[in-house]
Amino acid sequence: MYPIEAIRKDFPILTQRIHSNPLVYLDSAATTQKPQCVIDALVDSYSRTNSNIHRGIHSLSQISTDLYEQARERVRAFINAPQSKEVIFTKSVTESLNLLACSFGEAYVGEGDEIILSAMEHHSNLVPWQMMCERKKATIRFVPLFESGELDIETYKTLFSKRTKLVSIAHVSNSLGTVNPIKEIIEIAHAHKVPVCVDGAQSVQHTPIDVQALDCDFFAFSGHKIYAPTGIGVLWGKEQWLNALPPYQGGGGMIKTVSLAHTEYNVLPFKFEAGTPNYVDAHALGVALEYVQSIGIQEIEKHEHTLITHATKRMQHIEGLHIIGNAPNKAGAISFTVHGAHPADIGMILDKKGIAIRTGTHCTEPIMQFYNIPATARVSFGLYNSMEEIDFFADTLQKVVHMF
Ligand code: PMP
Repeated sequence: MYPIEAIRKDFPILTQRIHSNPLVYLDSAATTQKPQCVIDALVDSYSRTNSNIHRGIHSLSQISTDLYEQARERVRAFINAPQSKEVIFTKSVTESLNLLACSFGEAYVGEGDEIILSAMEHHSNLVPWQMMCERKKATIRFVPLFESGELDIETYKTLFSKRTKLVSIAHVSNSLGTVNPIKEIIEIAHAHKVPVCVDGAQSVQHTPIDVQALDCDFFAFSGHKIYAPTGIGVLWGKEQWLNALPPYQGGGGMIKTVSLAHTEYNVLPFKFEAGTPNYVDAHALGVALEYVQSIGIQEIEKHEHTLITHATKRMQHIEGLHIIGNAPNKAGAISFTVHGAHPADIGMILDKKGIAIRTGTHCTEPIMQFYNIPATARVSFGLYNSMEEIDFFADTLQKVVHMF
């Protein structure tokens, strides 16, 4: 039995009341709530161990450095990366993808070259590549979407040319909930000797990730979507790629030696971590990953699958409600529209009942253009959501839809 009651007690925010109603938090795809152990890790760091890392010989600096490097090792283990030096701490998946677009673009992309993205990418896995391609006079080719919210893999196979340098694709869509066949996507790219970056922002918290089994070349995720604080993220990359890429930012920590004329760069992972890193939130990320592991990512996946299946069934029975994205394999989120109502109105009325959902374009404007809709309402799930919450949401939504 999934210990939902005990889990919910770990999250102090879940006892909040919103407009006098118990909070029903269905917005975890935007950001997850934090368990007490993560909050404690932050308080403890600032109360007992805070000191800048890597540069001090005093005790606190050493403790702080150890906690930071322990967090890196926890990330490595969580995604089953071969080596912790391949784990680069960033501030978010957005920064991870900007890092990669800049560094990879600088080293490997020239005029007339091509990269492949999909039509369902979050803006953060689109705009950095557009910026890079504009600089380099390169082109982006897009894997198209089907109406179901799935990627057209047959067309994807035809997008490769001798000029293709990289594929970067979301594992799970934040707007549609589609789980993409990422292993197949990677295998197809590798058959063309093209490396693949996986945007794991919406997968790492819902399903076990094994970067070696996937054989992806890069994997990016954000701490705040996996029960850790904001301001910390990860870019994992295969050692040979990271060694070959130029640094993204210059400054302290990323250097071996500096003279006025020349700088020799540091080894991995430090080459990509210029300046004082966010060592406190990195430590809290390590604690969050341990927390997730203490429940079991497979158990979480099963529980969330039950939630999403139940929510989908209930929503399918609401007349006038239209689910956007009906892929057979979905995780984390369900987007929908309601005939005759703007999603923002739905979100506002649900909020009065204490139900937090997100409305808008979810940083995926091209998806809205594809479906020819201005926005969607989106419910998304975390390890702390209960079946009772789903039923309360569905009952309330049914009444709201009838109003319109
Ligand atoms: N990619 C996907 C699929 C996302 O869902 C998000 C966040 N909504 C991002 C990238 C960007 O994440 P962040 O804002 O944490 O950088």
